[in-house]
Amino acid sequence: MIEGVDHIGIAVRSIEESKALYERLGLEVTHIEEVPQELVRVAMIPCGETRIELLEPMSEASPVQKFLDKRGPGIHHICMRTDDIGAEDHRLRVSGFQLLREQPSLGAEGALVQFLHPKTAGGVLLELSEPQEHSE
Ligand code: ZN
Repeated sequence: MIEGVDHIGIAVRSIEESKALYERLGLEVTHIEEVPQELVRVAMIPCGETRIELLEPMSEASPVQKFLDKRGPGIHHICMRTDDIGAEDHRLRVSGFQLLREQPSLGAEGALVQFLHPKTAGGVLLELSEPQEHSE
């Protein structure tokens, strides 16, 4: 089941430079992480019940670099949180969405993620994420 918007991904050239804008809004970066398998560095900024995710390319080969070259900084994707990404992967595939990966894979914060191609999702890159279980 899709439970809500986990975060909104925004492509930036530099987290260091871009985070100042969010700090001026009164928000704050709580977590910065490199996701080498996706060639991005991400910064998480909590905002009410959702979060802003700043995405900075780690190399020229990063898909986020290609996005920046083509469109400049801006909204890159919207991520919806699910409690069962395996079931969603199957359900959406069967209902005709084009998924970008063979199967859900590890993303930032150890979450399992999958992406829906914008072509079959109304022009929006949609990410699905099942957060890692926290044993607290
Ligand atoms: Zn994301």
